[in-house]
Amino acid sequence: MTFDPETVVEALASVLCGPAALHEPTFAGNEWDYVKECLDTGWVSSVGKYVDRFEDMLVDVTGAGHAIATVNGTAALHASLILASVEAGDEVIVPALAFVGTANAAAYLGAVPHFADAEERTLGLDAAKLEAHLDEAAEVRDGECRNKQTGRRIAACIPVHTFGHPLDLDSLVEVCEKFNLVLIEDAAESLGSTYKGQHTGNHGRLGVLSFNGNKTVTTGGGGAIITNDADLAARAKHLTTTAKVPHRWEYSHDEAGFNYRLPNINAALGCAQLEQLPKFLERKRKLAKAYKAAFAGISGLRFFSEPDFAKSNYWLNALLLDPDVAAGRDDILAAANDGDFMTRPAWTPLHRLPMYRDCPAMDLAVAEDLYARLINIPSSPHLAEAGHG
Ligand SMILES: *Cc1c(COP(=O)(O)O)cnc(C)c1O
Repeated sequence: MTFDPETVVEALASVLCGPAALHEPTFAGNEWDYVKECLDTGWVSSVGKYVDRFEDMLVDVTGAGHAIATVNGTAALHASLILASVEAGDEVIVPALAFVGTANAAAYLGAVPHFADAEERTLGLDAAKLEAHLDEAAEVRDGECRNKQTGRRIAACIPVHTFGHPLDLDSLVEVCEKFNLVLIEDAAESLGSTYKGQHTGNHGRLGVLSFNGNKTVTTGGGGAIITNDADLAARAKHLTTTAKVPHRWEYSHDEAGFNYRLPNINAALGCAQLEQLPKFLERKRKLAKAYKAAFAGISGLRFFSEPDFAKSNYWLNALLLDPDVAAGRDDILAAANDGDFMTRPAWTPLHRLPMYRDCPAMDLAVAEDLYARLINIPSSPHLAEAGHG
């Protein structure tokens, strides 16, 4: 089928008033005041009231029992894998259609990503297909899941809520229980997204958030670990603050900890941003609704909408091309970017990257197919105000 890329550019232009980046932060609240206070008082680094306040606000927003702020989301994933007792030589189930940081976190500790396929309904990990794969490729012995081919333990599973859309968590929780995998939810993209009414990141032992500059809420760079387990939360804080033993003056450490604590100046930005989260989410839904209407009449593609069991934050809006139009993806990307509407394909599937090419994997046909058909389009919350939507 031939597809005119200009129809996409025209639909984008009907929603957006002018040139638009993919995702830009909005600083319209107390950002200047809070950051200035850090500078005025000298509390800019890893201790200060904003870090604690930011963590309390994250507990409020996510409903998790505990939140531990970190320097970025990847560090939070790295620490979470250690807290989940994942060790060098273990395998970790990672979706092939994901940001590279998810796989990197496993690689940092000498573990091996084991790539899993996606499902079109959610763009997230396909639990049923993973179960069928593990039934075949793994066995549970003495409470441990082993890859029959490599002999390695499969220790954990890190699903990603792709572009903010919640994946089917109930099904995945069951599979993780059946195979004794620790579930670590990569909710880096899904702040504000709920699955059956409960915030994402709360369905496994640990969840991870990111506050990178392109995420829904930013601290410049930043992340967090969330958990409902008080002991894990205490260990998470210890491990990410150089394992310093609390004392009035002694400076002592009881393990090789990480300097992963979020600085106060970044947390100050985060507090101001979180205050605006409801407004950001409202605008992002408004923008998604405008896109949905604008693309509804165009055959050959559809605007990707949240699955019916979820409420998405619509972090990165996406178009999904029909299979017979997929060959025109790059022409659409070229036309939209020429028109100053920043668009891009999904991440290169992780199993194609040179450092992960030889990792164990299941059949990844859907992840490959989705990669060939997905296009991310401008998604900043301020665009809902500027646009005609
Ligand atoms: C943004 C992101 C992360 C973490 O990223 P940082 O830039 O390290 O904060 C991890 N996983 C996914 C899926 C992400 O989108």
